[in-house]
Amino acid sequence: MYHDDEEHHARCLECGDEIGYGRTDRKFCSLSCKNRYNNRKNQDSRRTKLKVLNALNRNHEILDGLLKMGMTEMNISDLKHLGFDTDYMTSCYRTRGHTEFCCFDIRYHVTPTRITSIFRMKRNLSAKDE
Ligand SMILES: [Zn+2]
Repeated sequence: MYHDDEEHHARCLECGDEIGYGRTDRKFCSLSCKNRYNNRKNQDSRRTKLKVLNALNRNHEILDGLLKMGMTEMNISDLKHLGFDTDYMTSCYRTRGHTEFCCFDIRYHVTPTRITSIFRMKRNLSAKDE
């Protein structure tokens, strides 16, 4: 909140109209503007989350598919062709000499051109068999 100019009338964050009620802490001219603004903001947030989750799911499917074929490495260009997006991971560990990334339960190393050492972390979950 800026109060450096007492004569300054706040403007509605949604429609840009001046808020003429004399209260400087108001952000919206009306309830409908407030609702519209918040709905859009929530929608943007949902969309962003969905985009990241979709990318992670796709990455996981690809890594999972490679492991099922007995493959533990692949060129990044080939992976990208399959839809893999190297910008998304669920966690990352820096160890000596390299960085390990995780996509949920699957771990891998990334070199400038390849993803290597793909392996599934073993957790003592229930026997979820294929
Ligand atoms: Zn408004």
